[in-house]
Parts: sequence; structure tokens; C-alpha cells
Amino acid sequence: MHHFVSSSNELLRKRGYRLTPQRHMILSVIQEASEHLSVDQITERVQQRNPYVSLSTVYRTLELLRELGLVRENHFLGEQPRYEAVEGQAHHHLVCRRCRTTIHLDEALLGNLHEQLQGQYGFHGLTLDLVAVGYCDTCWQILQRQEHSSESMADTPATEHEERQDQQI
Ligand SMILES: [Zn+2]
Ligand SMILES: [Zn+2]
Repeated sequence: MHHFVSSSNELLRKRGYRLTPQRHMILSVIQEASEHLSVDQITERVQQRNPYVSLSTVYRTLELLRELGLVRENHFLGEQPRYEAVEGQAHHHLVCRRCRTTIHLDEALLGNLHEQLQGQYGFHGLTLDLVAVGYCDTCWQILQRQEHSSESMADTPATEHEERQDQQI
């Protein structure tokens, strides 16, 4: 059993819940994913193992796991929530607007932000969930190229213009 699944099992039992086969499957799917999964993606992966697990079971289970603090629900760019295992405390993300690549931010970069917030605003027991939105390097380069090609398009002959169209996405 994976670490995440077994520690979740322990917590579920402590709170009087059983590790049902459905809960086990959902926890495993989340544990094994390298990306942040939507409810649809979780359901799809769970149904590959057992086609009889319904979407509403997945919803209910995620809700329970979230309440128990085992699973984190992220809201990126106003899309449907994405789920992942809660591991460690702070959890910050860099999200690309174009390809939706999501990177976990190195917490050390934030320095003593917690203490500063406590000092300046008198806020205590803080939980920070930072989402920094921008463009990843690959997308940025594509966008730069597009910008250049549309800038020069006005005064380029038609033949060259055609050639550039395939680059546009
Ligand atoms: Zn990107
Ligand atoms: Zn994450």
C-alpha cells in the first residue's frame, strides 16, 4: 500500500470511517497521478478499475477526503477544481495560462512571508495557498513568435504570409 493510502486509511479509521474499495481506489488514483486531476479524470481512472463506481460516489468521497484534510482542492484559472494529495503544509502553484502546466513553487522563495503577514496585519495561524498565473517558457516563446509574425504581416508579401500561417495556434 502506498504511503498516502495507508496514512489516509489510518486517519479514516480514527474518525470512524472504513477504507471502502471505492475510497481505496480514489486515494490510489490521486496518489499515482503526477498531475492535478479533475473530478472527471479521477472518475475515468477509477472506472478503468471498476466501471460500477459512479460520478456521485467520486464526488462524495472527494468531499469527505477534503473535509478530513487528506485531499486538496485547487481552483486554477476559474476552471473545475483539481485534486491532489495533501503532503506537507504550504502548497503553492505556478500555472501557465496557455497550456495549463502546473508547477509546485519552492516554498523557500517566499522567505518569511508568514511572519511578515503576522507582523503587519496581525493575522495568525495562517494558511497560504498561492497561485501565480503566467506563461511557461515554451508558451512564452510561441507567443513571442506569434507577436512578431503579426507585427510584420502587414507589410509582407502574400507568399511569406502563407508560410507563417502554420505557426499560428
Ligand atoms: Zn505553457
Ligand atoms: Zn499541487
